[in-house]
Amino acid sequence: MKLIFVTGGVISGLGKWITAASIGKLLKASGYTVNIMKMDPYLQIDAGTMSPFEHGETFVTTDGFETDLDLWHYERFIDQSMTSKSSVTSGQIYLSVIRKERRGDYLGKTVQVIPHITNEIKDRIKKLAADSEVTIVEIWGTIWDIEWLHFIESIRQLRQELGRENCMIVHVVPMITVTTSGEMKSKAIQHSVIKLRELWIHPSILVCRTREHIDQDLKDKLSMFTDIDSDHIIEALDQKSIYQVPLAFQQQNLHLLIQKRLFWEQREPDMEHWKYLVNAIMNPLKTIHIALAGKYTNLTDSYMSVIEALQHAWANHDTKIKVHLLDMESFEGPSREEKLSNYIKENDIKWFVVPGGFWSRGIEGKINIANYCRVNNVPYLWLCLGLQIAVISFARNVCGLETANSTEFNEGTVDPVVAIMEDQKTIENKWWTMRLWLYEAILKAGSKVHALYGQDTIQERHRHRYEVNPAYHEILEKNGMMISGMSPDGKLVEYIEIPNHIYYTATQSHPEFNSRLDKPHPLFVWLITACL
Ligand code: GLN
Repeated sequence: MKLIFVTGGVISGLGKWITAASIGKLLKASGYTVNIMKMDPYLQIDAGTMSPFEHGETFVTTDGFETDLDLWHYERFIDQSMTSKSSVTSGQIYLSVIRKERRGDYLGKTVQVIPHITNEIKDRIKKLAADSEVTIVEIWGTIWDIEWLHFIESIRQLRQELGRENCMIVHVVPMITVTTSGEMKSKAIQHSVIKLRELWIHPSILVCRTREHIDQDLKDKLSMFTDIDSDHIIEALDQKSIYQVPLAFQQQNLHLLIQKRLFWEQREPDMEHWKYLVNAIMNPLKTIHIALAGKYTNLTDSYMSVIEALQHAWANHDTKIKVHLLDMESFEGPSREEKLSNYIKENDIKWFVVPGGFWSRGIEGKINIANYCRVNNVPYLWLCLGLQIAVISFARNVCGLETANSTEFNEGTVDPVVAIMEDQKTIENKWWTMRLWLYEAILKAGSKVHALYGQDTIQERHRHRYEVNPAYHEILEKNGMMISGMSPDGKLVEYIEIPNHIYYTATQSHPEFNSRLDKPHPLFVWLITACL
C-alpha cells in the first residue's frame, strides 16, 4: 500500500486537485494502478445540499454519491470512475464515530479525536488504498486551518504504521512575487514547511505555483531553508490549459522522483495522445460560438463540467468553442424575442446548451429560449432541468396547455407536466427523494440519440427529483415530441427530441459527467460536428 498526500500551504485556490490529478495521470500512464481520494472538512455528509455559489458545481459518482467537482477532475485526468469511497468529509467521520459510541463500541473509553476520529479517517484511506498500487489523497484547505488538524494527524500516524517508504507528502505552495519590484519571495513557503514540521510532517516534494520561472538560485535557497532537495522543488507555472500541467510536470521528471521515493522501478509515462489533444486545444483551426443559458452565470465554476465536456469534444475536432454565458433572467420580460435574435446575431451563436439547475429563478427565460429555438430551428442540447424546460415549453406552445409547469416552480399548477412521482412523496428525508446514480435508458430505434450512442441501451449519471409526468406522455407524443429514451420499466422519460428539428435533443441525465479529455461524450461531439 503506497500513499501520496497532497497538502496546501499559505493560501487556498492553488490547484491542489490539478497536482493530485496530474500525478495520478503520470503514474497511471507509467503503468501503475492508481486511485485518488479527497478529504473535505465540512460537516455535511456530502456536497449535495450546498449552493453552486458556495461550492461550485455538484458532481455525482457512479454509485450515486454527491461530491464537489474534484472527483470529476480526477476522473477526467486518470480516465477512471470514482465511487463514494473517494469522498470523505468530517461529517461522515463524526457521524460514524458517534453512531459507534451509541452502539457501545467504545464502552469504558473516552471518545476523542485521537484515536477515534483519526482511526476512522485512517480506516477509510486504507480501505480505498487496498485496491491499487498507489492512492493519492488530497487534503482540503491550508496549513493550520482548524478544521484540518485531524486529517494531518492521521497522515502522521499512517506514515508511522505503514513505513516512510510507503507514504510521501507533496506540498503545494505559492511563490509570491512582489508586485512593484517583481522580486520572487520564498519566505511564506519556508514558514509553511516549518508549520508542517511542527506537526511532524516533512514534505518530500514542493510544488510551487508561480507566474514566472523559478531559477536555480532560488530553488537552492528554498532547499536550504526547507531541507527539501532542490531537484524536488517543482515549478507549477500558470498554464493556459489545465491539461498542460501533467506535461509540465513530466518535463521536470516529477514521475521519476515519486517512483524513486516510493522505491519503485523507474518508468516513463506514455503521454503521446494526451500531448496531441493538448496541442489541439491550444491551436484550434476554427472557433464556434455557443450560448450556455444558466442562472449562476457570474460563477463559471457552476457549469464547469459542461464547459469542459465541450472542450473535450473540441480537442478531438481542432475547433475551439467560445462559450457565452447567458443570464436567463434578462430574457424574461417584453421584447425578449427581439433581444434574443439580436444576441444570436451579434455573437454569432450557433447553438444553445442549457445545463441543470434547481428552483424557479430564471426559469421563464429558459422556457422562452426553448420556444425560440424550436420555432427558429436553432439547435440545442438541454441537460436535466433542460429536458424539463423543453417539455414545459412544448406543452405550453404546441399542446395548448398554456399554464403547464413543473411542480418545482408552481406547486398548484393546473397542468403539472413535470412533477414528483407518487412514491417519492412519502419520503421524509429530502436527500432520499433525489434520483442519483447511473440509470439505464432504452433508446428508441430510429431516434437521433440511438444513432449518436450507437447502442440500444445506455447508462448515464442522474441528479434530480422531478420527472416528466406519465399522465402527459401521450399528449406530448401526439403533438410531435418523440420520447426517444425511457427507463427500462417504461415509466420515466430519459431523452426527448423533435424529429424534424435540426437538433432539439434533451436528456434527463448528466452526460457531461461521463466526458473525459481522451474519451469525449458522443452528444457533445455531435454538437461540434453538427456546427461545423
Ligand atoms: N430541479 C430539477 C429536478 O430536481 C432538475 C435538477 C437538475 O438539473 N440537476 O428534477
